[in-house]
Amino acid sequence: MTEKLNVVPFVSVDHMMKLVLAIGVERFLGELAEEIEADFRRWEMFDKTPRVASHSREGVIELMPTSDGEVYGFKYVNGHPKNTREGRQTVTAFGVLADVGNGYPVLLTEMTILTALRTAATSALAAKHLAPRGANAMAVIGNGAQSEFQALAFKALVGIDRLRLYDIDRTASLRCARNLAGMGLDITICNSIEEAMEGVQIVTTVTADKQNATILTDNMVGSGLHINAVGGDCPGKTELHPDILRRSEIFVEYPPQTRIEGEIQQLAPDHPVTELWQVITGVAPGRSDARQITLFDSVGFAIEDFSALRYVKRQIERTGLYEELDLLADPDDPRDLFGMLLRAKASAPAA
Ligand code: NAD
Repeated sequence: MTEKLNVVPFVSVDHMMKLVLAIGVERFLGELAEEIEADFRRWEMFDKTPRVASHSREGVIELMPTSDGEVYGFKYVNGHPKNTREGRQTVTAFGVLADVGNGYPVLLTEMTILTALRTAATSALAAKHLAPRGANAMAVIGNGAQSEFQALAFKALVGIDRLRLYDIDRTASLRCARNLAGMGLDITICNSIEEAMEGVQIVTTVTADKQNATILTDNMVGSGLHINAVGGDCPGKTELHPDILRRSEIFVEYPPQTRIEGEIQQLAPDHPVTELWQVITGVAPGRSDARQITLFDSVGFAIEDFSALRYVKRQIERTGLYEELDLLADPDDPRDLFGMLLRAKASAPAA
């Protein structure tokens, strides 16, 4: 990789797609989950803060920073459920890694695709510890941009081979089923959430709506189910009826953020939850009996993005799938920034 001080490696959407396809989606998800798991094992080394959110009537724009003392990373991400009606994504993102020692960025990358991959990898990693043993069938409620990634992560990491899809917009389910055709999943499109839940051991809720929705009601949730609740990730934006939460063993990423943004915003602020990193390190138990309802109240945390950024950085060094961005001013004399500007005058076009 380049030693030029003005240049930062940049991964465009095109390069990210080439990278994911070169590695293979399922292998990428598996390796990313390993990276996230390794970082969760050293959870205490990270600077942690709830993400910085700027809420508006239509959505949210968030910054998600963290550092392990040597490398710093952040993601810019939005969430605008109405966007798909205008041909835009609900969620888009980009991210940066930087060297803590000199503050220079060492990677700038698209993260819309990478967020879908890291969210799915984290969900499946949680399910590996929390889902009932031998789970092979999953319902996916909400069949938008995240859904295929979720399905493939659960196939690769948990062994799911039966998928039951439901979306209020049937065309979304049809697209999801079409995209996943021939990938080793037996797929059924369902007409209701109740129908989608028949015979599954895992349900993933990944809908987008800027309100306290009730995607799952208490009567839909039988004993032993693992719930992977992904879509509720903002104040006032939830998917589960609170009675489900009261019957569940709840696992979260970073409690100070999840209590603001997750399903548990509907509960008392001291309601007991277990942090996923504690399950991964063996400090706390995951699923302890077959009848327990386990809930992964996913909101997405900065350490998962940090892991994803570091993974991508290693992969582009190996494959060369990036371009060089002239991002940082680099005068010959570091203090002569103005002189550099003057010297550029000769080649500058007249305005
Ligand atoms: P999307 O807009 O592409 O898809 C959402 C789908 O949900 C749409 O197909 C819509 O028709 C469907 N839907 C809406 N209400 C529904 C209902 N009541 N029942 C069934 N289906 C319904 O959005 P996306 O990019 O797939 O994201 C989905 C959600 O996941 C968003 O809320 C987003 O903020 C969240 N998200 C969370 C994380 C995380 O880390 N937890 C990461 C990424 C996205």
